[in-house]
Amino acid sequence: MSDSYSTDAIVVGAGVIGLAAARALALAGHDVVVLEQETLIGSHTSARNSEVIHAGIYYPQGSLKARLCVEGKRKLYDYCAARGVSHRRCGKLIVATSDAQVPELETILGKAEANGVEDMSLLDADAAVALEPALSCRAALLSSSTGIIDSHGLMLALQGEMEDAGGMLAFGTRVDAIEATGDGFQVRASGDGQETRISCRVLINAAGLFAPGIARMIGALDPAHVPEAHYCKGNYYSLEGRAPFDRLIYPVPEEAGLGVHLTLDLGGQARFGPDTEWVDGIDYTVDPSRADGFYAAIRRYWPDLREGSLHPAYSGIRPKLGGPDAPAADFRIDGPGTHGVPGLVNLLGIESPGLTSSLAIADEILARLDA
Ligand SMILES: Cc1cc2nc3c(=O)[nH]c(=O)nc-3n(C[C@H](O)[C@H](O)[C@H](O)COP(=O)(O)OP(=O)(O)OC[C@H]3O[C@@H](n4cnc5c(N)ncnc54)[C@H](O)[C@@H]3O)c2cc1C
Repeated sequence: MSDSYSTDAIVVGAGVIGLAAARALALAGHDVVVLEQETLIGSHTSARNSEVIHAGIYYPQGSLKARLCVEGKRKLYDYCAARGVSHRRCGKLIVATSDAQVPELETILGKAEANGVEDMSLLDADAAVALEPALSCRAALLSSSTGIIDSHGLMLALQGEMEDAGGMLAFGTRVDAIEATGDGFQVRASGDGQETRISCRVLINAAGLFAPGIARMIGALDPAHVPEAHYCKGNYYSLEGRAPFDRLIYPVPEEAGLGVHLTLDLGGQARFGPDTEWVDGIDYTVDPSRADGFYAAIRRYWPDLREGSLHPAYSGIRPKLGGPDAPAADFRIDGPGTHGVPGLVNLLGIESPGLTSSLAIADEILARLDA
């Protein structure tokens, strides 16, 4: 069976980025359809992350990550307040656990200030321990604007607003092929033994880990604009018992991630992660033997961590634009001004802080379509 429709805009992917983009398009008056291969919103990276509202501290000045994180954080706090999305501005401490790391805190503070992050302060060990008595450190950097959010609640709110504005979401609908038609695109999708063809003028590729594959389907797009997909898994372990800290605790960052940190969920449960494990495919299983590395990393700032109190929890996979030896890459929001295909925006390498930046990324997509 095959059906044919036409709409103004198609968004591929109902993660937080696709939903934020679809909401913005619908509110701007576009007829929008979101195509999602799974049967739920946020089935991949958007449900497999730390749920932290990042302040915008670490990213190079002038990068999309820096600008969209700081902008996105403000928009997200306002949005959560307006739409009743659960969140908590709990703050975070970045901790130096050796004398050699103390100067790194000053470097991080300099970067944060250059990015326009406010409410940061350097603390000596006594001041940090006064805030968090279980902590062991030489010094710490307090970020008061960092928080936590119910990411599923956020996605539900975005979906609801998008649908109220006339947008539609088709679950269990996998995009298989895309043809450029001259004045837009024809998208072929399948699900439930049914094939559907939908034509559209605007196509937003928000397929997360699968976004390079979707971009590769578009014949009109020069392959030079399609990066190879690299995957870096981040595993999480939950902590048995009461959380020892009220704030999020981060070590100074490491190369592919922010280091094994402690985050809290809104119920007050503590979890540690994500670590970095480069992988070839998408498999979310958490290998219990990785716990050894976690105990060692966590005990540098929390020596009282009890043996046997960590349990494998879940994992997420970072959509990387380069392999282990490549320098950290920026977000890519490739619109017509980048690749020359009218109506197309490819979202590539939307790793952390993508959740924090989602509302700002959506506005950026609209701006790039108009440009
Ligand atoms: C370990 C980890 C920790 C993180 N922690 C944080 C954090 O604390 N704070 C923060 O701000 N950010 C964090 N992030 C980043 C954040 O989670 C992501 O940037 C964000 O979730 C990406 O959303 P997305 O919509 O682009 O991708 P996804 O959520 O993966 O959504 C893409 C969707 O596209 C669908 N799709 C793919 N192919 C097709 C197809 N052919 N047809 C139809 N549908 C398709 C998929 O099924 C999926 O639902 C973290 C990421 C990771 C991996």
